[in-house]
Parts: sequence; structure tokens; C-alpha cells
Amino acid sequence: MEKTFTFDRPDPCNAFIKICENITYGEGPLSGISVGIKDNISTSGIETTCGSHILQGYIPPYNAHVVTLLRSAGAAIVGKTNMDEFGMGTTTETSSFGPTKNPVDPTRAPGGSSGGSAAAVRSGLVRLALGTDTGGSVRCPASFCGIVGLKPTYGRVSRYGLIAYANSMEQIGPMAANVRDCALLYSVIAGYDPRDGTSVDKPAPAPVSPVIAGKKIGVPAEYFGEGVDPAVAETVTEAIEKLADLGAEIVPCTMPSMKYALAAYYVTSMSEASSNLGRYDGVRYGMAPEMVQPWHEAFSAIRRSGFGEEVRRRILLGSFALSAGYQGKYYAKAQAARQMVRDDFARLFAEVDIIAGPTMPTVAFRLGEAADPLSMYLADILTVPANLAGIPAISVPCGEAHDLPVGLQLMGRHFAEDEILSAALAYE
Ligand code: GLN
Repeated sequence: MEKTFTFDRPDPCNAFIKICENITYGEGPLSGISVGIKDNISTSGIETTCGSHILQGYIPPYNAHVVTLLRSAGAAIVGKTNMDEFGMGTTTETSSFGPTKNPVDPTRAPGGSSGGSAAAVRSGLVRLALGTDTGGSVRCPASFCGIVGLKPTYGRVSRYGLIAYANSMEQIGPMAANVRDCALLYSVIAGYDPRDGTSVDKPAPAPVSPVIAGKKIGVPAEYFGEGVDPAVAETVTEAIEKLADLGAEIVPCTMPSMKYALAAYYVTSMSEASSNLGRYDGVRYGMAPEMVQPWHEAFSAIRRSGFGEEVRRRILLGSFALSAGYQGKYYAKAQAARQMVRDDFARLFAEVDIIAGPTMPTVAFRLGEAADPLSMYLADILTVPANLAGIPAISVPCGEAHDLPVGLQLMGRHFAEDEILSAALAYE
């Protein structure tokens, strides 16, 4: 039997773009549990904007697969959470609907792009939230807000109904205040869906008990290298010592491909974005253009006013990288570098079970601090390798630096979510 309630709690951090008027829920493992959904995940009958002016007023006619799963598990979907426009950012400040504030310190950004989901969980507005992680967007805000966030293996969670940014790398992931809740939400959304051609038909066990003793944990030197705040490095080093105290064997290692990872990620993600965002012409989705003639001027006008600066920058750079004569120089090289990252992980996972390091090189930025796009891109260096390789990775709170939360990142072999979740449970 369905039950209904209304939600009248204030949202001072601007975690939500939209809060539903009548919230319904049913029976099941998530019965009555409040969930926030990132606004790039389609919800039937509920406006879905991707944080972009261009999609304002767009009401999807169908649910994403994960939303169908949540509804059948009895979850109470509270609303749609704020995000960087189309997921392009690391602070939630590129949203067309104003930035989200970090509940830990409202002068700081919550991280991004799933900053609204992290802020909604951290401020207690919802118990669970869904984010998406193309290059770190679940793990970064989890780290900055002091909560748990998991990026599943590529192919583990259906992307059906997820509005694409860079589809070869992104996954929908669970976010929660603790590992057990994160595992609970993971167990509901993981699994095969024939409507997503990249979905993989494998059993997705959720962990039942904490396991860390006897595990080999690789710690790449590059995760503590240049650009990583020494105070963050120290907090994470202590967390890794705790893993050793719990019986794990720590194995120092190196990941030489790290020096190419960020470039490979940005060339790949911008190229895919330039293609994926071609559909927003104001005719098929979202804002209706003024039908000025000729048609290409109408399309340009709508895209110029509907997309924000960061999205336009990436469409232009991505189109350039893919244009005739330059593909070999940029896109093909990025794919070769991506393969080097995969090869590094394959080599390491022949020796160790888990790879650990900081999730982010710094603590949460001040609002406005990451205004320069290049410095914003640099912050993704520790999260993008997992997306390039498609492996699962979790961020777990592990203490503080400068009085702000720090995340410990644990990466696992393909489809070994249960292993990193079990380790995270033991750590917590
Ligand atoms: N910050 C990265 C980017 O801007 C990651 C975003 C994401 O994972 N959606 O592309």
C-alpha cells in the first residue's frame, strides 16, 4: 500500500533543485527511507534539468532504471539534487540554479558534481542519495562533505535514463552517511538491465560483514605526490596505518600512467560531451527557440543562452579534439593513455586486492576559489584513473585536515564492489 507525506524542511544549503510536493512510498527494503536523486537521472513526471537552464521545464516521460528499482524497493523520493551543469565541474558552482553550500562549512563548496546529493545527506535532509561519477563526481563531494560515496564498476549499474555527459566512463553511485547505508543502496541499484547495452549480467553481492585482515593494499606513491596537500596526505597516511593495524598488508607501489590520466580524461570526456550535447537544439528538448531564420542561427542562439560557460567551453574543445586532422593528435592519444592506465591497474591488481590513497588532493574549496577552469580540472587527478579503467572506487571519511573532512579512497578490481565495501565497513 502506498503512503504519502509532504516535506517541509528548509534547505539552506540549496541541496535540492526541486523538492516533490507529495512524496509517496511503498513496501520493500527501502520502505519509507528518504532518497535524493541527482538531477541528471530521469524521473517520470518530475522536472529533470541536469542543472542546466537549457533543460528547465523538461519533464521526462519515463523513469531511469535505478528510479524504477528505488520505487519498487519502497523508497521515498524526496526530490532532485543540485549539480554542476551536466556534471561538468568539481564544486556544484556551474549549476544554472545557484551553488550548493557545504553543510560542514557554508563558506565552502560541497564538491561536485553531485554536490547537492552530498549536502542533502550531510545536512540530514535525506538518508540516502544517488549521484553520478564520470571523473569523481560521487567521491569528490563525499570526501568534501564527510560522507560515503561509491562509484561502481562500469556496467554494474544501469545507465538507462541517465542523461549522458561522457558515457564511456560514468556510473550512477550510492551516497550515504555511513558504509552500511551506502551498501544498502548499492544492493538495490546494482544489477543487469538489458536496456543499457553496457550493463553486465553478473551477480552483485552486497557485503554482509567487515573484512580487511589478510588483504593486500597497494599504496601508489603518485597518490601522495605533487599537488596533494601535506595535511591531507598525513590524515590519509594515518588511515592507511589503521588498515594495517586491522590486519591488512600495506604494499608500496607506483602508477606511472598517472601523469597522463588527467589529460586522457579531459580529452575523452569533452569529446564525448560534444557529441552527447548535440541533441539540445531547443526543438527536441527543453527551451523552445525563437524561430528566427536561418535554422542554424536559431540553434546557435538557443545553445548560447541555454548553456553556461563551462559547458560551452567543453563542447568547443571536444568538437575541436574530434575534428578532421586532429583526431590522431588528441582523441587517439587519449585512448592510448587510457589503455596505459588500465594496464597499470591490471599489473597492480595481480599483486594486491585493493589500492588506497586520498580521494581528493585538498579539502573543500572556498566558494568561488576554483573559478579558474584549469585549477578545477587538476583537482580530479586522484579520482579519474578509476573512471578511465572502469574499476569500482569508494570514498570513506577518514578524519580531518584544516578542520574539514578528508576522504580515504579504496579502489578494487572490476566487479569487486563487495570487497571494497567490506574493507570500508571494517575501517569505519
Ligand atoms: N570534475 C570532473 C569533470 O568536471 C568530474 C565530473 C563528473 O564526474 N561528473 O568532468
